[in-house]
Amino acid sequence: MQDKRNFYINGAWVAPVEGTDLEVINPSTEEPCAVISLGGQADTDAAVAAAKAALEGWMYADPADRLAVVKRILEVYRSRSDDMALAISTEMGAPIDMARASQAGAGESHIRNFIAAFDKVEFIAPLGDHAPEDRIIKEAVGVCGLITPWNWPMNQVSLKVIPALLAGCTMVLKPSEIAPLSSILWSEILDEAGVPKGVYNMVNGDGPGVGTQLSVHADVDMISFTGSTRAGIAISKNAAETLKRVHLELGGKGANVIFADADEKAVRRGAMHCFNNTGQSCNAPTRMLVERSAYDRAVEIAAETAEATAVGLASETGRHIGPLVSAAQFDKVQDLIQKGIDEGARLVAGGPGRPEGFNRGYFVRPTVFADVNNDMTIAREEIFGPVLSIIPFEGEDEAIRIANDTVYGLTNYVQSQDGARRNRMARRLRAGMVEMNGKSRGAGSPFGGMKQSGNGREGGVWGIEDFLEVKAVSGWSNDHS
Ligand code: NAD
Repeated sequence: MQDKRNFYINGAWVAPVEGTDLEVINPSTEEPCAVISLGGQADTDAAVAAAKAALEGWMYADPADRLAVVKRILEVYRSRSDDMALAISTEMGAPIDMARASQAGAGESHIRNFIAAFDKVEFIAPLGDHAPEDRIIKEAVGVCGLITPWNWPMNQVSLKVIPALLAGCTMVLKPSEIAPLSSILWSEILDEAGVPKGVYNMVNGDGPGVGTQLSVHADVDMISFTGSTRAGIAISKNAAETLKRVHLELGGKGANVIFADADEKAVRRGAMHCFNNTGQSCNAPTRMLVERSAYDRAVEIAAETAEATAVGLASETGRHIGPLVSAAQFDKVQDLIQKGIDEGARLVAGGPGRPEGFNRGYFVRPTVFADVNNDMTIAREEIFGPVLSIIPFEGEDEAIRIANDTVYGLTNYVQSQDGARRNRMARRLRAGMVEMNGKSRGAGSPFGGMKQSGNGREGGVWGIEDFLEVKAVSGWSNDHS
């Protein structure tokens, strides 16, 4: 079993001061594959102190120097991409081909996109012709605590660490204790790329420990958090005492509104998207709203898609889906499938228990419920498993009412050949993102939610600006730069 107990603090791998051992479990086998340490207050304090000491040097460095460091990170990240795919696949169960292309691949594409966006950030700009001696300076927020989940580990880590570095912030990353191996490798990559000591630090830990210690810490200026709405609320309360800035990327319950004139692949595409990453995506289209006249056929296609979705070991190549991440997640998904049945939804594919052929590993059956109404638990709670709920509707107004009737507002989806209708829907859906007709959002498009899905925007220029403060200056000398 790999010993991964050390933390990365002030440019060196150091033994924990107050560590408690935690085994990392491979979800395909239920066997431990590594041991990490959950840090304590002394470890958090050491990492924050290192970040604080490094702040002046990094935030006032020439932005071009920060960009050069990030370009080196991209090179080293590329050279370690196979190791990264293996780490992610082992720790959270993404099938190896998917781990390579989508999971590890997301990290690489975010780094590339931030490099492209960097030129568009104006670190200093005039206020306007009416005030020639005014400048608006954008400067680093300061020391950041970055707290990330397990479901898309490198996607989330790169969406925080890279813009924080480019903005001139220093930081302590606390990755998910359930999937920490990719972040340990990430720390090796940053070390090899020559990130100056203290600028980037990593301490493993859990929510009540390092997560809370960072949230309340007087020397942490900002928390950027991705994870559950539950933890986002706890962090916001804990951070209130020091009034630090809190950036939140939380859960979702995406509606996929399919009109009768949608393209013929819309239902299959929506079901596959829901099952991708074994349903463990915050932006998964888990509520499929189908116009009544196309409803019966849509239910059939969704059920066929679930039945055709292969489930298999994360270590095997191929296009199957892997296990859920943990025993806790397995139990939660099983409970919610049972609730769907108990509350009267019509089970048309999958159901409780493991798929045939599995007696261990956190594998679940791709599941589809029809005749769901939006008050049922499966339509309200984020399940975080491959479970699709299909809800009929009649007309645009009813679709909007159902889609918006949720505490979440992350990503909604619309499928229709009618362009005017798509644009009306995009305006009326209360969500940070609306994706239509299967078109992905372009590189550098901001990712983030409304309502209880959070308040931050990650990616592109917006992602960098989230780590910047605005400073207004008058009396600026135009004779000096
Ligand atoms: P989680 O909230 O349990 O844990 C996320 C991280 O927060 C972990 O590092 C955990 O240790 C830490 N944490 C937990 N409680 C904390 C506390 N009280 N104080 C400080 N830190 C705490 O979430 P998870 O189960 O790891 O991830 C799944 C959740 O993440 C889902 O709800 C999903 O929707 C959400 N998510 C959101 C986005 C987004 O961008 N909106 C992206 C991915 C995942």
